[in-house]
Order: sequence, then structure tokens, then C-alpha cells
Amino acid sequence: MSCTLTALVGQSAALIDTPTLVIDLDAMERNMARMAGFAQQHQLLWRPHAKLHKSVQIAHWLEQAGAHGHCVQKTSEAQALAAGGIRNIYISNEVIAPAKLARVAQLSQQLHAQGGRLALAVDSLEGIARLAHAMQAAGAAPASIDVMVEINVGQNRCGAEPGPAAVRLAQAVHAQPTLLFAGLQAYHGAAQHMRTAAARQAAIAQALQHIATTRRAFDAAGLHIPLVTGAGTGTFIHEAASGVYGELQTGSFLFMDADYAANERDPAQPVFEHALFVKTQVMSVSATHAVCDAGHKSHAIDSGLPTVHGLPAEHALRFANGGDEHGVLHPDASAGNASGWLPALGEALWLIPGHCDPTVNLHSLMVGVRGGLNGGVVECVLTVDGRGALT
Ligand code: PLP
Ligand code: MN
Repeated sequence: MSCTLTALVGQSAALIDTPTLVIDLDAMERNMARMAGFAQQHQLLWRPHAKLHKSVQIAHWLEQAGAHGHCVQKTSEAQALAAGGIRNIYISNEVIAPAKLARVAQLSQQLHAQGGRLALAVDSLEGIARLAHAMQAAGAAPASIDVMVEINVGQNRCGAEPGPAAVRLAQAVHAQPTLLFAGLQAYHGAAQHMRTAAARQAAIAQALQHIATTRRAFDAAGLHIPLVTGAGTGTFIHEAASGVYGELQTGSFLFMDADYAANERDPAQPVFEHALFVKTQVMSVSATHAVCDAGHKSHAIDSGLPTVHGLPAEHALRFANGGDEHGVLHPDASAGNASGWLPALGEALWLIPGHCDPTVNLHSLMVGVRGGLNGGVVECVLTVDGRGALT
């Protein structure tokens, strides 16, 4: 597969085999410029989340666009980016296993020596003690890893209780010479896909109250909070407007999946375009439906099935799950396909994944196309460097 696809560079997008993950580079670059422009306009740091793209090359492009660093969710994802020359990485997640923490400590020293920086989230005294132990065992330099104290701002996933519990964690970080307390992790994942703009705004307003409670407790203890970081594609306009967050962690804006497209757009939010597609091909047609070669080994289905991109209303198709390797396409009369039109055998279709992050993780390569999906040219083939980096 690798050889077939890399041989495509310079050739027509029509020659891309199926099913394959394809990036519309022009759309991706416009998304990047819009997000970078937004962060700059609001004078915020921008640390896009690499859990989406898992690609060293894209991380470098994001830096050229204005990102000052990258988030990852896993230690091995951090290692994959560092191996490609990325120097400023934040594992926006808790790490508890001693063997993983040994890797965290080793990576922090490597990046520190290169003039870079590793950061990690914590939400327990035990986690801080274990991290400090791993850092000492690695012979770490003073204050050579940034530690963010995560607070639960409404998702009820990870995170300490807002208020005094977070202060106790920050004090424990301050007590460890190898650790540097760098601020609060305040990400509200559950707010991202609330469908109405008003519900998302209300959720972030609540998150801000939790941060305010926490800040009062820090003030009372005489402790400074250097940075509040968080925000995803669904809510970042509110974190940005708050004057409280100093850094945005948006990821999905880069590719824009069908689930995000189903959100009501807040007028204040920049418009992001779909930029990641599964190219698929019709391989069987009956009187009532067509079948394409992309099943749920080609795209994640946790956030809904893919939608079919770029068809006129009279040709609208609804994608139904046909199993691991098949997708079933029905005429979508409610969207305007009253005639029952179906694509012909061999026809190429472009699917918008329901959820891009886990879709990318199903693929080893992403083909970058310039000049549009139909009629464009293959400019590059990117490796999914963090594919399967789950540890
Ligand atoms: N920050 C954290 C901690 C996340 O878990 C995520 C995604 O799940 C993001 C940022 C990015 O969010 P999105 O991809 O919705 O922009
Ligand atoms: Mn996601």
C-alpha cells in the first residue's frame, strides 16, 4: 500500500486507490489560517491537539502557521512527535503507570536538552509523587517538566474538584524540585458537541465559574496560576472571549468531521471546511442501493456514520453501515433525490467521516491533494506517525 500510494505524487487524484484517507490540502490550509488568525487576534497561545492528525508533518505545518506547541493524549504519541523533531509537547492527560512515567521523564530530559519542553496533566497527589519519583530516577534537571493541574469543569471525566483540592495539588507540585507548576488544565469535552450554540455557551460559562472558584482558593493560598489551558473546536470562541484562558487546544477544526458539522454554528465562530475524506468506490449496484468499498475499518462510527460529500441535492445519498468493508448507499429522497438516482459501478465517492480522530487512527497514510478532490493532483503522502500510539 505504501509503495502504491507514494508513487502517486504528481499524479491525478483520480488515480488514488480506495478506500484511502485523503486530505484536501487547500481546505486544510484555510482552516489552519482561520484558527491561527483567531488565536492571534485574541492574543492567545495556540497549542492544537495532535490526537486528531497524529502526523509529524502536519505538526510542523501548524507551527509554521503559528502554533507554539502541540497537545497529545498519550506518552507514545508524544514520543512519535518528538522523534520527528517536535520540541514543545503537552500530554493533556494523566499518566500513572511507573513504566510510562519513566518514558515521560526520559522524554522531558531529551526535550529539555534540546531547548524544548514537555508538559503533563495531573489530578492526584499520588500521580504527582509518582511523576517526581520517575524524574528523580532519570536524574532530571530542576523544574524540567511543566505540570498542569487538571480541574473538573463539567465533563466529570478526569480532574480534581475545583477549589482547595486543586490548590493542594499545586502545592505538592511546588514541593518537588524537578517539577514546575505551569497552570490549570480546564477542558470541557462534554460541551463540544452540544448542538445549540446557547447550550455550549452556557456550559463554558459554568466552566468559568469553576475556574473562578479555583482562582479564589489559589489567591487565598498566595499561589499564582501561570496559565489556564483548554478549549476544543465546539467552544473555543467562549474560552477565548473569557479573558481567563491563555491557550487554546483545538484539534478537529483542521479536518472538520460530520459530527461537528451537525452543531449549530455560532456566528462568532470562524467557518471551517471539511478537509479529510475517505475516498471510496462503488463496487456493486442493485435496483434499490449501491455498495461502496468503505466500511467501519475505513472510518470510525462512534459519532455517527459518514456523509457523502459534494453531490447535488438530486443525487443525495444516505450512507448505511454495511459492515467492516462495505458501505450501503441509499437514495436520500428527503434531501432531494426523489428519482432514486444511484451512482454507477466504479464511480468514486468522497465520504466525510463522522469523527476524524479515530478515523485517522485506522490508517497508515493520508494522501494530500492540491486543487480539489475531483481534478486535483496528489502533492504528498503523509504517514500517520502516531497511529496505534495508545500507550
Ligand atoms: N483538549 C483535550 C484535552 C481533548 O481531549 C480534546 C479532544 O478530545 C481537545 C483538546 C480537542 O478538541 P477538538 O478536537 O474537539 O477540537
Ligand atoms: Mn474527537
